[in-house]
Amino acid sequence: MKIHSASIPLQGINDATTKKHGVRLFVLRLDLNHPLISGNKLVKLKYNIEEAIHQGKQTILTFGGAFSNHIAATAAAGKECGFKTIGVIRGEEYAELNPTLAFAKECGMTLHYVSREAYKTKTSHEFIAGLHQLFHDFYLVPEGGANELGIKGCTEITKSIHFDFDVVCCSCGTGATLSGIVQSLKNNEKAIGFQVLKGENYLKTEVDSWLKRLNAPITDNFRIEESYHFGGYAKVNKELFEFVEWFKNENCIPLDYVYEGKMMYGIYDMIKKGQFESGKTIVAIHCGGLQGNLGIDKYRIGNPK
Ligand SMILES: *Cc1c(COP(=O)(O)O)cnc(C)c1O
Repeated sequence: MKIHSASIPLQGINDATTKKHGVRLFVLRLDLNHPLISGNKLVKLKYNIEEAIHQGKQTILTFGGAFSNHIAATAAAGKECGFKTIGVIRGEEYAELNPTLAFAKECGMTLHYVSREAYKTKTSHEFIAGLHQLFHDFYLVPEGGANELGIKGCTEITKSIHFDFDVVCCSCGTGATLSGIVQSLKNNEKAIGFQVLKGENYLKTEVDSWLKRLNAPITDNFRIEESYHFGGYAKVNKELFEFVEWFKNENCIPLDYVYEGKMMYGIYDMIKKGQFESGKTIVAIHCGGLQGNLGIDKYRIGNPK
């Protein structure tokens, strides 16, 4: 792998809530693995970039929304590894680039905007054939880095936890990260995925079907927590903001609002409700995503809709 990734600190949280309920809580700071290609997005790109090199490709093309952590990460990784990058962006182009897209462009990414309607067809043969006509040869990474090689990278996340634990928590968009994590667990370890999108049961089905496609043993060592999406993807409210602010002041750990803030809010709520038995060790994976806060701070808080 051409990208150097730092060793991942595990930060212990010892506060009034964890003490009162007798649980041990740690945060695996995957957000610190690289200054620009942060968190699980680097993990998911790792084997994809190796494969692109192996196939002799010069260009990586991928997909994402206008605030996408994956777009930012792919742009930076491409720059670092000497690839041209193309980002197929959902929605129309604005005169002023938001911080995510400005960063991607600075890294040399070509931004290709498609309508929301067209974006829905992005995995179809016709749509991809059209992209090949425009951009010729490229290595395709799906939205969010969610493919088999992405998941393979995520099977390595728990290697950074050097002690026994009972529960590992991660936030979930596509479920690729969780699909990797559950494959790496030992018998007595369980995973909880905190869903950040609205919708019942879709994520469980998604993870089950990934495990099936990968010929991984079907397992019941994980479950999805659907109660902490705060109304849906990238939806935020005052309570979430105040929690993220409090958590940062208390523990010096910044959280993004789209993913990790919701997961950590959920973990605290569950601890307070006694849903983790006293004596249990919980590890929360901080998958990064802090670049997204720049966009939220600038565009949503200033102009609440
Ligand atoms: C993309 C992302 C996730 C979700 O990962 P999936 O593998 O798509 O489930 C979680 N947290 C952060 C910070 C992310 O950027």
